[in-house]
Amino acid sequence: MSPQNFADRLAAVRERMTRAASRSGRSAHSVTLLAIGKAQPPEVLAMAADLGIGDFGESYLQEALEKIAALRERRITWHFVGRLQANKTRPVAEQFAWVHALDRLKIAERLAAQRPFHAPALNVCLQVNLGGEASKGGVTPAQLPELAAAVARLPRLKLRGLMCLPPEESEPARQRAWFAQLRALRDELNSGGAGLDTLSMGMSGDFEAAIEEGATVVRVGTALFGLRPTTIRTS
Ligand SMILES: *Cc1c(COP(=O)(O)O)cnc(C)c1O
Repeated sequence: MSPQNFADRLAAVRERMTRAASRSGRSAHSVTLLAIGKAQPPEVLAMAADLGIGDFGESYLQEALEKIAALRERRITWHFVGRLQANKTRPVAEQFAWVHALDRLKIAERLAAQRPFHAPALNVCLQVNLGGEASKGGVTPAQLPELAAAVARLPRLKLRGLMCLPPEESEPARQRAWFAQLRALRDELNSGGAGLDTLSMGMSGDFEAAIEEGATVVRVGTALFGLRPTTIRTS
């Protein structure tokens, strides 16, 4: 993709974000565009960074570590958005600023133990499996309060909010209904004093609905970078 081509896509995504935010009376600045660069080479991410993207999300650890090394000279905030195995937590604790899909206390404990003392706290979001889909990670809404309380007690981690990957819906009203559920869960935790400021929800196909329901981070891949090669897993 040429820089001009990417710049056009980026402008279109930002325009859609701004319109969705204004429909719900929000400022576009209240939503962070997290560019999901999985399957994209470091040169493409470098081009995106040159055009103003500061936050990148990755799902596959090995691929992510190669890009972090290649782009070390740039000011990039790295987010791990994939499922994390217990034996792979250390590089995430050491090299990322955010983890979005936390759903097990054991993983959280390892991240807390492995986060370097000189680094700021690792920002984490808990993934909620709203649709009860076996193929996706996340806790059930019923399990959420207990996990949130346990993670909030860990040192070196900062519990920032909730994340979801809801069932795919083509109708905006149905998309919004899922995102409204995540927002309600966040509000419930906050009424108990959790102080969560982040809702990581919305992807290329539904980020406008997510923004209308209060997303503070949208995770966008395809709409920015085009279709990924089919050999790469996507979830
Ligand atoms: C791949 C991925 C995205 C981006 O999906 P697109 O539909 O390409 O925008 C967002 N979140 C997670 C967790 C992903 O794995």
